[in-house]
Amino acid sequence: MLSVTFLGTSAARPTVERNVSGVALVREGETLLFECGEGTQRQMMRYGVSFALSEIFFTHFHADHFLGVIGLIRTLGLQGREEPMRLYGPRGAKKVLTQAISLGVERVPFEVVVTEVKAGDVIGERGKGKGEGYDIRVFGTEHGGGSVGYALREHERRGRFDVEKARAAGIPEGPLWGKLSKGEPIELADGRKLTADGFVGPKRAGRLVVFTGDTRPCASVVDAAAGADLLIHEATFGEEEKERAKETGHSTAQEAAQVALAAKARRLVLSHVSARYSISADELVKEAREVFKESTVAKDGMTIEVPFSD
Ligand SMILES: [Zn+2]
Ligand SMILES: [Zn+2]
Repeated sequence: MLSVTFLGTSAARPTVERNVSGVALVREGETLLFECGEGTQRQMMRYGVSFALSEIFFTHFHADHFLGVIGLIRTLGLQGREEPMRLYGPRGAKKVLTQAISLGVERVPFEVVVTEVKAGDVIGERGKGKGEGYDIRVFGTEHGGGSVGYALREHERRGRFDVEKARAAGIPEGPLWGKLSKGEPIELADGRKLTADGFVGPKRAGRLVVFTGDTRPCASVVDAAAGADLLIHEATFGEEEKERAKETGHSTAQEAAQVALAAKARRLVLSHVSARYSISADELVKEAREVFKESTVAKDGMTIEVPFSD
């Protein structure tokens, strides 16, 4: 299972309806947080996101993307957490996050490890022992200050095990099926030795979920999101504020849709919307769908399941 819950979908400042940036991704029981705007911990409680997480990924350090880590870390400390917490962010992460963690008089009673990342980095070989693993690739975005986005790419999955063929070959159901489906050779009671060839289909693609953070539409996002099952792209503005989007390093809904189209993504979810769309983002949805049909605008508390494409 892989699902994404939007904890905050407002740009720059919270509104009555929407909190500032935060996305929780849950995969095989593991929770990852992308951004942690002010108030994120309360959104986690409200929408049932586990506090038993050990990593938070930041795209850049505008206040609406990280102020929530100050409070979240304190709460985890009060809860008696002992496990380390790992924080990732672009250049400047060490300084900003270390300040955030040390602000105030309390001491954080667990280890917090801050890692600075840059475009092209791969935070790899993850999730082993819980189905197939995955990598998190860091890609560049256009928002100034070395801003980055994150792409979670699952490793290829095993091919399908052909039950009918296994039966026809007289292989008894049980441990031998298990071995063969993992690609291991087997020996039958009658002495026949078989390899997995012909019993297991070609490897199947894993899922790709891409999170841009704040950005202008750009080629590096198109590359990172090529064939994505889910692209989460910012869309701060509508078409009527196209110029403003350019000036402030943001995207319009339609520009984000063009990125999704160019990337041949399966699905686009827009977030980080300007306060004027707080109550209704219908205009943004309409503008995006003119370019890319599978577009929606996230709401706080919205959860999306990301299925395999086959
Ligand atoms: Zn922002
Ligand atoms: Zn920003």
